[in-house]
Amino acid sequence: MKFFRISILLILSLTCISCAQKKAAVSFEAMNTFMTMQAYGKNCSQSLELAKNRILEIEKHISTTDSESDLYKLNLNSANGNSNNVPINPDLQLLTIYSLNISQQTQGAFNPALYPITKAWGFTTGNYQVPDQNLITQLLPLTDCSKIQLEWDAINLEPGMEMDFGALGKGYAGDQALSLLRENGITSALIDLGGNIQTLGSKPDGSDWNIGIKNPWDGTSAIAALKVCNKAIITSGGYERFFTASDGKQYIHIFDGTTGYPVNNGTSSVTIVTESGLYGDALSTALFVMGKEKAIEFWKEKRDFEFIIFTDSKDMIYTKGLEDKIHIIGNINSSAVIQ
Ligand code: AMP
Ligand code: MG
Repeated sequence: MKFFRISILLILSLTCISCAQKKAAVSFEAMNTFMTMQAYGKNCSQSLELAKNRILEIEKHISTTDSESDLYKLNLNSANGNSNNVPINPDLQLLTIYSLNISQQTQGAFNPALYPITKAWGFTTGNYQVPDQNLITQLLPLTDCSKIQLEWDAINLEPGMEMDFGALGKGYAGDQALSLLRENGITSALIDLGGNIQTLGSKPDGSDWNIGIKNPWDGTSAIAALKVCNKAIITSGGYERFFTASDGKQYIHIFDGTTGYPVNNGTSSVTIVTESGLYGDALSTALFVMGKEKAIEFWKEKRDFEFIIFTDSKDMIYTKGLEDKIHIIGNINSSAVIQ
């Protein structure tokens, strides 16, 4: 009888072990930020390792600071006054084509050629400063991304022009990581690439992921939560990087390419909810630059993504597709839904 009971217990516990999904997680630093990824199911550890290596490979191609990266070499060549075509790899080529396209669609709000300006403000080194207006005026013509020429396997930048994919590189890396997980049979995963959240499928128990949206006025607590599956939730906010200058003003890392100054249009943060991390990342930056009114206009034309905007006056506006998914946690002045 005792043996019988033990056998039953053993069978029950073995059944439970096989029911519970295997889980693996990995954390690392890449693209100047901290990344964590978690995946469930068979082969989850090996799949995460492949995904991590792909992210590191993309970084090798598009880093603006690693002297071995293809983008670094392209920018250096142009900074040295050369306009020769520099051979490029497919990641760099794809992001250049995509960026130019988004730049057109957003009427220049998204501009991958603002690097000379962000450099002058010290955002590339951390030696922050408000540059002289003469310098900004001198640099602005170098940010005209319509002058970027694409060849079959090369990019041609005019002397002095430099590119930077800080506004969409992480979204692209997230898409690539999730594709690899999917190809390896993973059906449930969540990745957080420095605040860019991308989900694969639903939670292992079949329910939606519950994703926190950062409070843009303190940069740490959650202002809202979103229930999603199979979505990228990508946020751009001034709280992510800024400095306070001797004039007492705060200057953020997202720039208005028409003035060469950090954006100061009353927007606190923009969150995009889409299937593609690349599209979401590009649009989070672009809609931040546009500001509330233009962002709403843009959404009404496209209607192929959802978004939330928080303004400096603590108003929250979000698109109707999020109505039954959003839960407001923090203090806001008002909330409105765009139809
Ligand atoms: P994100 O956090 O995705 O909004 O990206 C911000 C980063 O994109 C900045 O740190 C810059 O490297 C770059 N950037 C700043 N302003 C722009 C802009 N108007 N268009 C494209 N990239 C930008
Ligand atoms: Mg972005």
